[in-house]
Amino acid sequence: MNLLLDSFTIVPRMGVVQAAYLIASGLFILALMWMSSPKTARRGVRAGELGMLVAVIGTLIHHDVVRFDTIAAGVVIGAVIGVPMAFLMPMTAIPQRTAISHAFGALAVGLIGGVEYFRLAPVLPAGSFTLWALMFEILLGLLTCTASLIAFAKLQELMPTRPIMWPSQQILNLAVFVASIGIAVALAMNPASQTLFPVFAVLALVFGVLLVLPIGGADMPTVIALLNSYAGLAASAMGFALGNKLLIVVGALDGTSGFILAMIMCKAMNRSFTNVLFGGFGQVAPTSTGGGEQRSYRSMTPEEAAPSLENASSVVIVPGYGMAVSQAQHRVAELYEHLEELGVEVKFAIHPVAGRMPGHMNVLLAEADVPYDKLVELEDINPELPQTDVVVVIGANDTVNPSARDDPSSAIAGMPIIEADRAKQVMIIKRSMNAGFAGIDNPIYYNDNSSMLFGDAKKVAEQLVKELQELAE
Ligand code: NAP
Repeated sequence: MNLLLDSFTIVPRMGVVQAAYLIASGLFILALMWMSSPKTARRGVRAGELGMLVAVIGTLIHHDVVRFDTIAAGVVIGAVIGVPMAFLMPMTAIPQRTAISHAFGALAVGLIGGVEYFRLAPVLPAGSFTLWALMFEILLGLLTCTASLIAFAKLQELMPTRPIMWPSQQILNLAVFVASIGIAVALAMNPASQTLFPVFAVLALVFGVLLVLPIGGADMPTVIALLNSYAGLAASAMGFALGNKLLIVVGALDGTSGFILAMIMCKAMNRSFTNVLFGGFGQVAPTSTGGGEQRSYRSMTPEEAAPSLENASSVVIVPGYGMAVSQAQHRVAELYEHLEELGVEVKFAIHPVAGRMPGHMNVLLAEADVPYDKLVELEDINPELPQTDVVVVIGANDTVNPSARDDPSSAIAGMPIIEADRAKQVMIIKRSMNAGFAGIDNPIYYNDNSSMLFGDAKKVAEQLVKELQELAE
Protein backbone atom coordinates (compact mmCIF):
# COMPACT_ATOMS: atom_id res chain seq x y z
CA MET A 1 0.00 0.00 0.00
CA ASN A 2 2.77 2.40 0.99
CA LEU A 3 4.64 1.60 -2.22
CA LEU A 4 1.52 2.34 -4.20
CA LEU A 5 1.04 5.65 -2.40
CA ASP A 6 4.73 6.51 -2.80
CA SER A 7 4.22 6.41 -6.55
CA PHE A 8 2.31 9.70 -6.02
CA THR A 9 4.54 12.65 -5.31
CA ILE A 10 3.55 14.53 -2.13
CA VAL A 11 2.22 17.61 -3.93
CA PRO A 12 -0.39 15.91 -6.18
CA ARG A 13 -1.29 13.65 -3.27
CA MET A 14 -2.05 16.68 -1.08
CA GLY A 15 -4.17 18.08 -3.91
CA VAL A 16 -6.25 14.90 -3.88
CA VAL A 17 -6.52 15.01 -0.07
CA GLN A 18 -7.70 18.64 -0.09
CA ALA A 19 -10.19 17.89 -2.89
CA ALA A 20 -11.53 14.93 -0.86
CA TYR A 21 -11.87 17.18 2.20
CA LEU A 22 -13.72 19.81 0.19
CA ILE A 23 -16.14 17.22 -1.22
CA ALA A 24 -16.63 15.68 2.25
CA SER A 25 -17.34 19.11 3.80
CA GLY A 26 -19.93 19.83 1.10
CA LEU A 27 -21.58 16.45 1.67
CA PHE A 28 -21.75 17.05 5.45
CA ILE A 29 -23.40 20.44 4.92
CA LEU A 30 -25.92 18.87 2.51
CA ALA A 31 -26.50 16.03 5.01
CA LEU A 32 -27.44 18.51 7.76
CA MET A 33 -29.71 20.43 5.40
CA TRP A 34 -31.51 17.29 4.20
CA MET A 35 -31.80 15.81 7.66
CA SER A 36 -33.83 18.80 8.82
CA SER A 37 -36.95 17.49 7.04
CA PRO A 38 -38.47 13.99 7.34
CA LYS A 39 -39.01 13.96 3.56
CA THR A 40 -35.29 14.28 2.79
CA ALA A 41 -33.82 12.78 5.98
CA ARG A 42 -32.86 9.44 4.37
CA ARG A 43 -31.00 11.29 1.62
CA GLY A 44 -29.27 13.32 4.35
CA VAL A 45 -28.07 10.16 6.11
CA ARG A 46 -26.71 8.76 2.82
CA ALA A 47 -24.90 12.06 2.09
CA GLY A 48 -23.37 12.00 5.59
CA GLU A 49 -22.21 8.39 5.12
CA LEU A 50 -20.72 9.17 1.72
CA GLY A 51 -19.02 12.29 3.15
CA MET A 52 -17.44 10.19 5.91
CA LEU A 53 -16.22 7.61 3.37
CA VAL A 54 -14.63 10.32 1.20
CA ALA A 55 -13.07 11.94 4.31
CA VAL A 56 -11.59 8.62 5.50
CA ILE A 57 -10.19 7.73 2.06
CA GLY A 58 -8.78 11.27 1.73
CA THR A 59 -7.07 10.96 5.10
CA LEU A 60 -5.65 7.52 4.35
CA ILE A 61 -3.80 8.81 1.28
CA HIS A 62 -2.27 11.66 3.31
CA HIS A 63 1.55 11.37 3.21
CA ASP A 64 1.72 11.58 7.03
CA VAL A 65 0.01 8.19 7.29
CA VAL A 66 2.97 5.82 7.30
CA ARG A 67 1.53 2.60 8.78
CA PHE A 68 -1.72 0.91 7.89
CA ASP A 69 -1.55 -2.13 10.17
CA THR A 70 -2.52 -0.24 13.37
CA ILE A 71 -5.29 1.58 11.50
CA ALA A 72 -6.64 -1.76 10.20
CA ALA A 73 -6.51 -3.19 13.75
CA GLY A 74 -8.46 -0.14 15.02
CA VAL A 75 -11.08 -0.58 12.29
CA VAL A 76 -11.53 -4.27 13.17
CA ILE A 77 -11.81 -3.61 16.93
CA GLY A 78 -14.20 -0.69 16.33
CA ALA A 79 -16.37 -2.79 13.99
CA VAL A 80 -16.48 -5.73 16.43
CA ILE A 81 -17.82 -3.40 19.14
CA GLY A 82 -19.86 -1.01 16.99
CA VAL A 83 -21.76 -3.35 14.65
CA PRO A 84 -23.45 -5.44 17.40
CA MET A 85 -24.17 -2.21 19.31
CA ALA A 86 -26.01 -0.79 16.30
CA PHE A 87 -28.17 -3.93 15.97
CA LEU A 88 -28.69 -4.81 19.63
CA MET A 89 -29.47 -1.43 21.20
CA PRO A 90 -33.17 -0.51 20.83
CA MET A 91 -34.13 2.85 19.38
CA THR A 92 -35.35 4.00 22.81
CA ALA A 93 -31.74 3.65 24.01
CA ILE A 94 -30.38 6.07 21.37
CA PRO A 95 -29.60 8.81 23.95
CA GLN A 96 -27.31 6.52 25.97
CA ARG A 97 -25.78 5.04 22.79
CA THR A 98 -25.02 8.58 21.66
CA ALA A 99 -23.54 9.36 25.09
CA ILE A 100 -21.16 6.38 25.04
CA SER A 101 -19.99 7.09 21.49
CA HIS A 102 -19.39 10.75 22.46
CA ALA A 103 -17.33 9.56 25.41
CA PHE A 104 -15.00 7.56 23.14
CA GLY A 105 -14.85 10.27 20.46
CA ALA A 106 -14.02 12.91 23.07
CA LEU A 107 -11.41 10.63 24.68
CA ALA A 108 -9.74 10.25 21.26
CA VAL A 109 -9.73 14.04 20.84
CA GLY A 110 -8.21 14.51 24.33
CA LEU A 111 -5.55 11.82 23.78
CA ILE A 112 -4.52 13.17 20.37
CA GLY A 113 -4.31 16.63 21.96
CA GLY A 114 -2.06 15.24 24.72
CA VAL A 115 0.27 13.49 22.25
CA GLU A 116 0.49 16.64 20.11
CA TYR A 117 1.18 18.76 23.19
CA PHE A 118 4.17 16.63 24.22
CA ARG A 119 5.40 16.53 20.61
CA LEU A 120 5.05 20.25 19.91
CA ALA A 121 5.57 21.95 23.29
CA PRO A 122 9.39 21.74 23.11
CA VAL A 123 9.51 23.35 19.65
CA LEU A 124 6.68 25.90 19.70
CA PRO A 125 7.11 29.45 21.03
CA ALA A 126 5.34 30.19 24.35
CA GLY A 127 1.76 31.40 23.89
CA SER A 128 1.57 30.28 20.23
CA PHE A 129 -1.88 29.83 18.69
CA THR A 130 -1.36 26.06 18.31
CA LEU A 131 -0.69 25.70 22.05
CA TRP A 132 -3.89 27.60 22.91
CA ALA A 133 -5.86 25.45 20.45
CA LEU A 134 -4.36 22.29 22.02
CA MET A 135 -5.28 23.38 25.56
CA PHE A 136 -8.85 24.14 24.47
CA GLU A 137 -9.06 20.80 22.67
CA ILE A 138 -7.74 18.77 25.61
CA LEU A 139 -9.93 20.54 28.19
CA LEU A 140 -13.14 20.10 26.16
CA GLY A 141 -12.22 16.59 24.98
CA LEU A 142 -11.48 15.20 28.44
CA LEU A 143 -14.38 16.87 30.25
CA THR A 144 -16.78 15.74 27.50
CA CYS A 145 -15.46 12.19 27.89
CA THR A 146 -16.24 11.84 31.61
CA ALA A 147 -19.43 13.94 31.39
CA SER A 148 -20.69 11.62 28.62
CA LEU A 149 -19.79 8.53 30.67
CA ILE A 150 -21.84 9.84 33.61
CA ALA A 151 -24.70 10.73 31.24
CA PHE A 152 -24.54 7.17 29.85
CA ALA A 153 -24.54 5.65 33.36
CA LYS A 154 -27.55 7.77 34.37
CA LEU A 155 -29.56 7.01 31.24
CA GLN A 156 -28.75 3.31 31.46
CA GLU A 157 -29.70 3.46 35.16
CA LEU A 158 -26.29 2.12 36.20
CA MET A 159 -26.30 4.93 38.78
CA PRO A 160 -29.10 7.04 40.36
CA THR A 161 -30.80 9.13 37.67
CA ARG A 162 -31.79 11.86 40.17
CA PRO A 163 -29.64 15.00 40.46
CA ILE A 164 -26.78 14.32 42.89
CA MET A 165 -26.27 17.53 44.86
CA TRP A 166 -24.47 18.67 48.00
CA PRO A 167 -23.84 22.01 49.73
CA SER A 168 -21.26 24.32 48.10
CA GLN A 169 -21.31 22.10 45.01
CA GLN A 170 -21.28 25.00 42.58
CA ILE A 171 -18.34 26.61 44.42
CA LEU A 172 -16.39 23.34 44.07
CA ASN A 173 -17.31 23.10 40.37
CA LEU A 174 -16.21 26.68 39.80
CA ALA A 175 -12.94 26.11 41.70
CA VAL A 176 -12.08 23.01 39.60
CA PHE A 177 -12.97 24.86 36.39
CA VAL A 178 -10.93 27.96 37.31
CA ALA A 179 -7.96 25.76 38.37
CA SER A 180 -8.01 23.84 35.07
CA ILE A 181 -8.19 27.09 33.07
CA GLY A 182 -5.31 28.50 35.18
CA ILE A 183 -3.12 25.46 34.49
CA ALA A 184 -4.06 25.54 30.78
CA VAL A 185 -2.86 29.15 30.63
CA ALA A 186 0.36 28.20 32.46
CA LEU A 187 0.98 25.30 30.06
CA ALA A 188 0.37 27.46 26.98
CA MET A 189 2.52 30.34 28.25
CA ASN A 190 5.29 28.15 29.58
CA PRO A 191 5.46 24.97 27.44
CA ALA A 192 8.50 23.76 29.44
CA SER A 193 6.33 23.25 32.55
CA GLN A 194 5.08 19.89 31.27
CA THR A 195 4.93 18.39 34.76
CA LEU A 196 1.66 20.30 35.28
CA PHE A 197 0.07 18.47 32.35
CA PRO A 198 -1.18 15.42 34.33
CA VAL A 199 -2.80 17.75 36.91
CA PHE A 200 -4.52 19.62 34.07
CA ALA A 201 -5.79 16.35 32.53
CA VAL A 202 -7.11 15.05 35.88
CA LEU A 203 -8.87 18.35 36.64
CA ALA A 204 -10.54 18.32 33.20
CA LEU A 205 -11.73 14.73 33.75
CA VAL A 206 -13.02 15.55 37.24
CA PHE A 207 -14.80 18.67 35.98
CA GLY A 208 -16.73 16.54 33.45
CA VAL A 209 -18.02 14.31 36.28
CA LEU A 210 -18.94 17.31 38.47
CA LEU A 211 -20.74 18.98 35.57
CA VAL A 212 -23.24 16.15 35.03
CA LEU A 213 -23.74 14.74 38.57
CA PRO A 214 -26.23 17.50 39.57
CA ILE A 215 -28.31 17.09 36.41
CA GLY A 216 -31.38 14.85 36.58
CA GLY A 217 -32.17 12.02 34.17
CA ALA A 218 -35.05 14.06 32.71
CA ASP A 219 -32.59 16.63 31.37
CA MET A 220 -30.01 14.13 30.17
CA PRO A 221 -31.03 14.06 26.47
CA THR A 222 -30.62 17.86 26.40
CA VAL A 223 -27.24 17.57 28.12
CA ILE A 224 -26.18 15.01 25.51
CA ALA A 225 -26.99 17.48 22.72
CA LEU A 226 -24.85 20.02 24.60
CA LEU A 227 -22.00 17.51 25.03
CA ASN A 228 -22.28 16.81 21.31
CA SER A 229 -21.65 20.51 20.82
CA TYR A 230 -18.59 20.44 23.14
CA ALA A 231 -17.17 17.40 21.30
CA GLY A 232 -17.62 19.25 17.99
CA LEU A 233 -15.83 22.34 19.32
CA ALA A 234 -13.00 20.16 20.66
CA ALA A 235 -12.65 18.50 17.24
CA SER A 236 -12.61 21.92 15.59
CA ALA A 237 -9.82 23.05 17.96
CA MET A 238 -7.96 19.84 17.05
CA GLY A 239 -8.33 20.87 13.39
CA PHE A 240 -6.63 24.19 14.18
CA ALA A 241 -3.85 22.44 16.12
CA LEU A 242 -3.21 19.85 13.39
CA GLY A 243 -3.80 22.25 10.49
CA ASN A 244 -6.63 20.01 9.23
CA LYS A 245 -9.35 22.04 7.48
CA LEU A 246 -11.84 19.17 7.37
CA LEU A 247 -11.75 18.81 11.15
CA ILE A 248 -12.26 22.56 11.56
CA VAL A 249 -15.33 22.55 9.30
CA VAL A 250 -16.87 19.32 10.60
CA GLY A 251 -16.18 20.21 14.23
CA ALA A 252 -17.82 23.60 13.73
CA LEU A 253 -20.86 21.96 12.08
CA ASP A 254 -21.11 19.43 14.90
CA GLY A 255 -20.61 22.10 17.57
CA THR A 256 -23.26 24.45 16.23
CA SER A 257 -25.82 21.78 15.33
CA GLY A 258 -25.51 20.23 18.82
CA PHE A 259 -25.99 23.66 20.36
CA ILE A 260 -29.02 24.46 18.18
CA LEU A 261 -30.54 21.06 19.02
CA ALA A 262 -30.04 21.65 22.76
CA MET A 263 -31.73 25.07 22.36
CA ILE A 264 -34.69 23.55 20.48
CA MET A 265 -35.10 20.93 23.22
CA CYS A 266 -34.93 23.56 25.97
CA LYS A 267 -37.56 25.66 24.16
CA ALA A 268 -39.84 22.64 23.69
CA MET A 269 -39.64 21.96 27.45
CA ASN A 270 -39.77 25.66 28.37
CA ARG A 271 -36.44 25.43 30.17
CA SER A 272 -33.45 27.71 30.04
CA PHE A 273 -29.87 26.45 29.67
CA THR A 274 -28.99 27.58 33.19
CA ASN A 275 -32.09 25.81 34.46
CA VAL A 276 -31.02 22.58 32.74
CA LEU A 277 -27.40 22.83 33.89
CA PHE A 278 -27.92 24.06 37.43
CA GLY A 279 -31.63 23.52 38.16
CA GLY A 280 -31.52 20.06 39.74
CA PHE A 281 -34.73 19.25 37.81
CA GLY A 282 -36.22 15.82 38.40
CA GLN A 283 -35.22 15.66 42.07
CA VAL A 284 -38.76 15.31 43.27
CA ALA A 285 -40.64 12.58 41.54
CA PRO A 286 -44.05 12.39 43.17
CA THR A 287 -46.04 9.33 42.19
CA SER A 288 -49.16 9.43 40.13
CA THR A 289 -51.81 10.18 42.72
CA GLY A 290 -49.85 12.68 44.76
CA GLY A 291 -51.09 13.48 48.28
CA GLY A 292 -52.64 10.04 48.70
CA GLU A 293 -55.96 11.38 47.38
CA GLN A 294 -57.73 8.81 45.19
CA ARG A 295 -59.25 10.48 42.17
CA SER A 296 -61.67 8.61 39.99
CA TYR A 297 -61.17 7.90 36.33
CA ARG A 298 -63.10 6.06 33.67
CA SER A 299 -61.74 3.05 31.82
CA MET A 300 -63.01 1.30 28.72
CA THR A 301 -62.17 -1.75 26.62
CA PRO A 302 -61.17 -1.66 22.93
CA GLU A 303 -64.58 -3.17 22.17
CA GLU A 304 -66.26 -0.17 23.83
CA ALA A 305 -63.89 2.31 22.20
CA ALA A 306 -64.20 1.08 18.60
CA PRO A 307 -67.76 2.43 17.89
CA SER A 308 -66.77 5.97 18.98
CA LEU A 309 -63.82 5.82 16.60
CA GLU A 310 -65.94 4.43 13.78
CA ASN A 311 -68.55 7.17 14.20
CA ALA A 312 -66.06 10.02 14.52
CA SER A 313 -65.46 12.33 11.59
CA SER A 314 -62.06 13.48 12.90
CA VAL A 315 -59.49 11.60 14.99
CA VAL A 316 -56.10 12.87 16.19
CA ILE A 317 -53.53 10.31 17.34
CA VAL A 318 -50.97 11.58 19.88
CA PRO A 319 -48.00 9.18 20.05
CA GLY A 320 -45.43 9.21 22.85
CA TYR A 321 -42.66 7.26 24.50
CA GLY A 322 -44.95 4.25 25.24
CA MET A 323 -45.55 3.73 21.50
CA ALA A 324 -41.77 3.56 21.04
CA VAL A 325 -41.28 1.15 23.96
CA SER A 326 -43.90 -1.28 22.73
CA GLN A 327 -42.85 -0.81 19.08
CA ALA A 328 -46.51 -0.19 18.27
CA GLN A 329 -45.92 2.08 15.25
CA HIS A 330 -46.95 -0.55 12.65
CA ARG A 331 -50.18 -1.36 14.51
CA VAL A 332 -50.86 2.37 14.93
CA ALA A 333 -50.35 2.82 11.17
CA GLU A 334 -52.89 0.02 10.58
CA LEU A 335 -55.33 1.76 12.91
CA TYR A 336 -54.85 4.96 10.90
CA GLU A 337 -55.45 3.12 7.60
CA HIS A 338 -58.63 1.44 8.86
CA LEU A 339 -60.05 4.70 10.13
CA GLU A 340 -59.28 6.46 6.84
CA GLU A 341 -60.98 3.61 4.95
CA LEU A 342 -64.04 4.25 7.10
CA GLY A 343 -63.99 7.90 6.00
CA VAL A 344 -62.58 9.29 9.26
CA GLU A 345 -60.09 12.13 8.86
CA VAL A 346 -56.98 11.12 10.86
CA LYS A 347 -53.98 13.24 11.83
CA PHE A 348 -50.97 12.64 14.08
CA ALA A 349 -50.05 15.32 16.63
CA ILE A 350 -46.28 15.48 17.06
CA HIS A 351 -44.74 17.06 20.15
CA PRO A 352 -41.10 18.09 19.62
CA VAL A 353 -39.91 16.18 22.72
CA ALA A 354 -42.30 13.21 22.61
CA GLY A 355 -40.32 10.03 23.21
CA ARG A 356 -36.68 10.21 24.22
CA MET A 357 -34.98 12.05 21.39
CA PRO A 358 -35.94 14.84 19.01
CA GLY A 359 -37.80 13.51 15.98
CA HIS A 360 -38.37 10.14 17.73
CA MET A 361 -42.04 9.94 16.69
CA ASN A 362 -41.33 11.12 13.13
CA VAL A 363 -38.73 8.35 12.69
CA LEU A 364 -41.05 5.62 14.03
CA LEU A 365 -44.07 6.72 12.01
CA ALA A 366 -41.96 7.10 8.84
CA GLU A 367 -40.73 3.53 9.43
CA ALA A 368 -44.40 2.44 9.48
CA ASP A 369 -45.06 4.37 6.22
CA VAL A 370 -47.45 6.93 7.69
CA PRO A 371 -47.53 9.78 5.11
CA TYR A 372 -45.47 12.81 6.23
CA ASP A 373 -48.32 15.22 5.58
CA LYS A 374 -50.36 13.44 8.27
CA LEU A 375 -47.83 14.46 10.93
CA VAL A 376 -48.84 17.84 12.34
CA GLU A 377 -46.68 19.96 14.65
CA LEU A 378 -47.94 21.05 18.07
CA GLU A 379 -48.60 24.72 17.14
CA ASP A 380 -50.66 23.69 14.12
CA ILE A 381 -52.70 20.89 15.71
CA ASN A 382 -53.69 22.67 18.94
CA PRO A 383 -56.19 25.11 17.33
CA GLU A 384 -57.92 22.09 15.68
CA LEU A 385 -58.30 20.00 18.84
CA PRO A 386 -61.48 21.62 20.30
CA GLN A 387 -63.31 20.59 17.08
CA THR A 388 -61.78 17.08 17.04
CA ASP A 389 -64.19 14.24 17.84
CA VAL A 390 -61.68 11.80 19.37
CA VAL A 391 -58.05 12.16 20.45
CA VAL A 392 -56.24 8.83 20.95
CA VAL A 393 -53.20 9.26 23.20
CA ILE A 394 -50.86 6.31 22.65
CA GLY A 395 -48.14 6.03 25.32
CA ALA A 396 -47.79 9.82 25.72
CA ASN A 397 -48.03 11.44 29.13
CA ASP A 398 -46.02 14.60 29.95
CA THR A 399 -46.55 15.97 26.45
CA VAL A 400 -50.35 16.02 27.02
CA ASN A 401 -50.26 17.04 30.70
CA PRO A 402 -52.53 20.11 31.19
CA SER A 403 -50.67 20.99 34.43
CA ALA A 404 -47.93 22.46 32.24
CA ARG A 405 -50.51 25.00 31.05
CA ASP A 406 -52.74 25.40 34.13
CA ASP A 407 -50.54 24.90 37.22
CA PRO A 408 -47.68 27.39 37.67
CA SER A 409 -46.29 25.27 40.54
CA SER A 410 -45.98 22.15 38.35
CA ALA A 411 -42.46 20.82 37.62
CA ILE A 412 -43.26 21.14 33.91
CA ALA A 413 -45.09 24.53 34.15
CA GLY A 414 -44.81 26.45 30.91
CA MET A 415 -43.79 23.47 28.77
CA PRO A 416 -45.80 23.63 25.52
CA ILE A 417 -48.23 20.70 25.37
CA ILE A 418 -50.56 19.07 22.88
CA GLU A 419 -53.93 20.17 24.26
CA ALA A 420 -55.57 16.77 23.96
CA ASP A 421 -57.87 17.56 26.92
CA ARG A 422 -59.69 20.16 24.76
CA ALA A 423 -60.99 17.52 22.31
CA LYS A 424 -64.57 16.24 22.55
CA GLN A 425 -63.42 12.77 23.66
CA VAL A 426 -60.00 11.52 24.80
CA MET A 427 -58.85 7.87 24.84
CA ILE A 428 -55.60 7.23 26.67
CA ILE A 429 -53.70 4.01 25.97
CA LYS A 430 -51.12 3.09 28.63
CA ARG A 431 -50.48 0.24 31.02
CA SER A 432 -51.27 1.87 34.37
CA MET A 433 -51.84 5.20 36.11
CA ASN A 434 -48.07 5.63 36.48
CA ALA A 435 -46.37 8.93 35.77
CA GLY A 436 -44.28 9.74 32.69
CA PHE A 437 -40.70 10.95 32.40
CA ALA A 438 -41.14 14.05 34.60
CA GLY A 439 -42.57 11.83 37.38
CA ILE A 440 -45.72 13.89 37.96
CA ASP A 441 -49.42 13.14 37.96
CA ASN A 442 -51.53 13.97 34.91
CA PRO A 443 -54.98 15.55 35.49
CA ILE A 444 -56.10 14.60 31.97
CA TYR A 445 -56.79 11.05 33.20
CA TYR A 446 -59.55 12.26 35.54
CA ASN A 447 -61.44 14.54 33.12
CA ASP A 448 -65.05 13.72 32.26
CA ASN A 449 -64.20 13.45 28.56
CA SER A 450 -61.28 11.03 29.17
CA SER A 451 -61.23 7.23 29.25
CA MET A 452 -58.28 4.97 29.98
CA LEU A 453 -57.60 1.97 27.73
CA PHE A 454 -55.19 -0.01 29.87
CA GLY A 455 -52.64 -2.29 28.25
CA ASP A 456 -49.52 -2.43 26.15
CA ALA A 457 -49.80 0.09 23.29
CA LYS A 458 -49.17 -2.51 20.58
CA LYS A 459 -51.75 -4.96 21.94
CA VAL A 460 -54.42 -2.30 22.44
CA ALA A 461 -53.85 -0.84 18.94
CA GLU A 462 -54.11 -4.39 17.53
CA GLN A 463 -57.37 -4.98 19.41
CA LEU A 464 -58.80 -1.67 18.19
CA VAL A 465 -58.01 -2.64 14.58
CA LYS A 466 -59.67 -6.03 15.12
CA GLU A 467 -62.78 -4.43 16.62
CA LEU A 468 -63.02 -1.93 13.75
CA GLN A 469 -62.69 -4.78 11.24
CA GLU A 470 -65.50 -6.66 12.97
CA LEU A 471 -67.71 -3.57 12.98
CA ALA A 472 -67.08 -3.09 9.25
CA GLU A 473 -68.10 -6.69 8.42
P1 NAP B 1 -43.69 10.16 28.93
O1 NAP B 1 -44.16 11.38 29.62
O2 NAP B 1 -42.35 9.65 29.25
O3 NAP B 1 -44.78 9.02 29.22
C1 NAP B 1 -44.75 7.83 28.53
C2 NAP B 1 -45.89 6.97 29.04
O4 NAP B 1 -45.87 5.80 28.25
C3 NAP B 1 -45.74 6.54 30.48
O5 NAP B 1 -46.59 7.26 31.33
C4 NAP B 1 -46.03 5.04 30.46
O6 NAP B 1 -47.15 4.78 31.31
C5 NAP B 1 -46.42 4.76 29.01
N1 NAP B 1 -45.86 3.51 28.53
C6 NAP B 1 -44.63 3.01 28.73
N2 NAP B 1 -44.50 1.82 28.15
C7 NAP B 1 -45.68 1.56 27.54
C8 NAP B 1 -46.18 0.49 26.78
N3 NAP B 1 -45.44 -0.59 26.49
N4 NAP B 1 -47.45 0.55 26.31
C9 NAP B 1 -48.22 1.61 26.61
N5 NAP B 1 -47.81 2.66 27.34
C10 NAP B 1 -46.54 2.63 27.80
O7 NAP B 1 -43.75 10.30 27.35
P2 NAP B 1 -43.99 11.54 26.39
O8 NAP B 1 -45.35 12.12 26.57
O9 NAP B 1 -43.58 11.07 25.05
O10 NAP B 1 -43.00 12.65 26.93
C11 NAP B 1 -41.61 12.58 26.73
C12 NAP B 1 -40.89 13.03 27.98
O11 NAP B 1 -39.49 12.87 27.78
C13 NAP B 1 -41.13 14.50 28.31
O12 NAP B 1 -41.11 14.68 29.70
C14 NAP B 1 -39.91 15.16 27.69
O13 NAP B 1 -39.60 16.41 28.28
C15 NAP B 1 -38.86 14.12 28.02
N6 NAP B 1 -37.70 14.33 27.15
C16 NAP B 1 -37.79 14.06 25.83
C17 NAP B 1 -36.73 14.38 25.01
C18 NAP B 1 -36.82 14.19 23.53
O14 NAP B 1 -35.90 14.65 22.85
N7 NAP B 1 -37.83 13.55 23.01
C19 NAP B 1 -35.58 14.92 25.53
C20 NAP B 1 -35.52 15.17 26.91
C21 NAP B 1 -36.59 14.85 27.70
P3 NAP B 1 -47.37 3.30 31.90
O15 NAP B 1 -46.13 2.95 32.62
O16 NAP B 1 -48.57 3.43 32.77
O17 NAP B 1 -47.62 2.39 30.73
